[in-house]
Amino acid sequence: MKLYVKKGQRKTNPFVFVFLAIVFIGSTSFLAAKTINKMDEFNQTKSELEVLEDEKSHLETSSKDFTIKEEELQKQVIDLEQRLQQIKRENPEVEPVTEDNKKYAYLTFDDGPSKNTPKILDFLKANHIKATFFVIGDASQTATYKRIVEEGHTLAVHTNTHKYSDIYKNVDSFMKDIERLDQLLEESTGIKPNVMRFPGGSNNTIAKRYAGFDIMEQIIPKMKQQGFVYFDWNVDSGDASKSTQDKQVIVDSVLNGAKSKEQAIILMHDAAAKTTTVEALPEIVEGLRKQGFVFEKLTAETETIHFR
Ligand SMILES: [Zn+2]
Repeated sequence: MKLYVKKGQRKTNPFVFVFLAIVFIGSTSFLAAKTINKMDEFNQTKSELEVLEDEKSHLETSSKDFTIKEEELQKQVIDLEQRLQQIKRENPEVEPVTEDNKKYAYLTFDDGPSKNTPKILDFLKANHIKATFFVIGDASQTATYKRIVEEGHTLAVHTNTHKYSDIYKNVDSFMKDIERLDQLLEESTGIKPNVMRFPGGSNNTIAKRYAGFDIMEQIIPKMKQQGFVYFDWNVDSGDASKSTQDKQVIVDSVLNGAKSKEQAIILMHDAAAKTTTVEALPEIVEGLRKQGFVFEKLTAETETIHFR
């Protein structure tokens, strides 16, 4: 107002009032229109939000339904699988074992022969099972080496002395040790073994300690050159972690270890102290058969399991 009413002016120009009235009406109606627009927008957004929220709650409900359905189906699958296993266990004839669905268990015995070995051989014979014996050198055990071969098992090499400080001193002393055992076995049985297992496994770190370098890197190709196929294991019976392990520990270690395997190479020992390994055998064999395994011996043709 001050803009139009100058000091000393007596009369205000009537056009100013008209102008002001127009401005007033104009701005009021502009504001009113603006408010109506905003209200429309507000209402529209609100209703869009309601639609979306409705949709969202719908989706949540159906995805909850979906999860429930999925869980139900999963339960049914497990029930059916268990039922199938049960039927197969009780009636093995319903699904003939073919080469495709065969699960192989390889029982392997290291560090023998000892007084336990004939007991193991008796058990294997009675149960029509072939196994693998990774033997050490003992001139008083020639009859047992012979029996292993005659009864159809694999007679395999595990070094003559099994003395880490000697065999892993250098490559030459390892090869000489193997040669001595080779000779003893050939003299006793007439056959030359071509399957072997390194004491401690092919990735053992003890060898490195004695040799001062990774001697296994040199021994492994040398043994291959000599025509040997070596095997490690993928199921440990745990019978070496104590002088005489608890029988149940051995049974459980083997049966749990083999559970997920199609091919189970099972590490056991038949040294003199391993009496509980012999005792564990019947339960191990029964448990593995229930898991669908058939027993085989390792040969140079068997698919190998190597730590390295
Ligand atoms: Zn051993």
